[in-house]
Amino acid sequence: MKNYDILVVGGGPAGYSTAIHAARKNSRNLKIGLVEAQQLGGTCLNRGCIPTKTLIETARLLDVFAEAPQRGIEVTGSATIDLAKAFKYKDRIVKRMSAGIGVLLRENGIDSITGKAFVRKNDDAESNEKFPFVVDVTKADSAKEGQTEYFSAKKVILATGSVPSVVRIPGCETPDVSARVLDSDDILDEKSFSLQSVPKRLAILGGGVIGVEMARIFKAFGSEVHLIEMLPRLLPFLDVEVSDALTKSLKAKGIKVDTDKKLSEAKFDGEKLLLNLADGETIEADFLLVAVGRSPFIETIDKELLAELRPDRRGCLPVDEMMKSTVPGLFAPGDVNGKCMLAHAAIEMGRRAAETAVDELQHVETPTTLDGATTETLLEEYRRRIMEKKGNSLLPNMDEEFFPFYVPGCIYGEPEIGFLGWSEHQAREKLGDAIRVGRFPFAANGRAASVGCRDGFVKVISLKEDKSIVGVHIVGPCASELINEAATVLHNGGNVEQWASAVHAHPTYGEALIGAAAESFDFSLDLPPKR
Ligand code: FAD
Repeated sequence: MKNYDILVVGGGPAGYSTAIHAARKNSRNLKIGLVEAQQLGGTCLNRGCIPTKTLIETARLLDVFAEAPQRGIEVTGSATIDLAKAFKYKDRIVKRMSAGIGVLLRENGIDSITGKAFVRKNDDAESNEKFPFVVDVTKADSAKEGQTEYFSAKKVILATGSVPSVVRIPGCETPDVSARVLDSDDILDEKSFSLQSVPKRLAILGGGVIGVEMARIFKAFGSEVHLIEMLPRLLPFLDVEVSDALTKSLKAKGIKVDTDKKLSEAKFDGEKLLLNLADGETIEADFLLVAVGRSPFIETIDKELLAELRPDRRGCLPVDEMMKSTVPGLFAPGDVNGKCMLAHAAIEMGRRAAETAVDELQHVETPTTLDGATTETLLEEYRRRIMEKKGNSLLPNMDEEFFPFYVPGCIYGEPEIGFLGWSEHQAREKLGDAIRVGRFPFAANGRAASVGCRDGFVKVISLKEDKSIVGVHIVGPCASELINEAATVLHNGGNVEQWASAVHAHPTYGEALIGAAAESFDFSLDLPPKR
């Protein structure tokens, strides 16, 4: 049996970031391995962020061709999509990036092990004090297929991520229907891809991030898209104004949006799917994409160990702010803990897990961080900075509530959305009249006007008392890039006044950010005074 100091299970953002951080921090030659059952890069790289954003860029290019004539560009013929080529292009990007992760692991001295891991406690009395965990790895590579190798580990990083959630829809069990029902893995996977060409009619169950992004892609590719959401609004976790603006824009693009509707049954009539809604309406479609969320993947953990890990009702493994699970020595960063199912959150969680695991292994009395500060000092420093600069105990505690309050989220629809902190509704619920809201429309922004993206706005929510920022919401061009500026300001304890006084280049979309910050205290030069 091969022994490891740290054995990471899962090669997605949480897993590879833990392994690489641990290797970089490791000053005593700790032995680190990473087990991955499929391709390195996890959901993010293979079935999530990167494939969808590649296809969204293809969709955007199609839109550009459609808009070209109004700019005076003559296009002969029309731009159409070749789905097979579009997927090949996406796959090339994914393959290159996945190989890049392999190189990074190798260059950092991390053993990369291919196979499916099963994690359990070490029941060997002689070795279990030193190596409390055993990981059985069933090999997937053709030479050793089916063979199992055994590894023991002092620390295990369980970064097994998540999988598409399944809903039981009556009728879906029949083969004709199930062949036409896809999840987000299927629709992005060329091999299991049942669509030989763009479907004429695509119904999407679930108006969350994945549903909205897929609607944007397939509408641009030429499908008639019908979004079905059970709740009264699309993207219900968003600020209401932002969610309403997006819904309006989706409808304007010709995407049918049905909220407050429940799918009760799916049938196949020999030609098409008939999707019966609970209110009696029937939607016709060629394919149904089910995008109803994601569930932590915890199947490959021994039963006894899993019981000690105390998963909640959804299967999320509880962890503290440094990603320590309820079992000493076992860490669970990333989607598997359900705190914030985003790739950049998983990367930050991996960093925290690595720092703590290495500190524990090196028996450092006061844990240290990469730059030499102690972990405790770092958290203390975060807290001090927020309290001092913002001087306000109304704000969420940065270490305990880091995820998701201080982590930006994005939706790559048309237009894009970027958000951070509390929505206006949440802020009012918590703080009542203690907040004020600054808004700036992209219609008043020079760059947006010249590019022709005048829809949308920036909304900044702050405390009246000391101008601390508690929420930033952007719907409009490049929102996914702009929100990073807001994250930097929030992270460093800046307030709306300081933000508004930072000179921004002209003409840029970023001016809309300081416009909204300034509008919080009625000082935006580009908007008429409120009074
Ligand atoms: P994962 O990326 O799921 O990685 C887990 C890995 O563990 C997988 O590779 C899996 O094969 C491996 N594994 C599991 N069990 C075992 C085992 N027993 N043995 C060996 N290996 C195992 N997030 C964003 O921030 N931005 C986006 O734009 C975005 N877009 C998305 C679009 C889609 C369609 C989807 C589905 C997700 C998207 N996400 C996005 C979410 C993002 O992909 C996840 O939050 C992120 O991948 C989580 O990282 P992770 O490392 O925790 O898990």
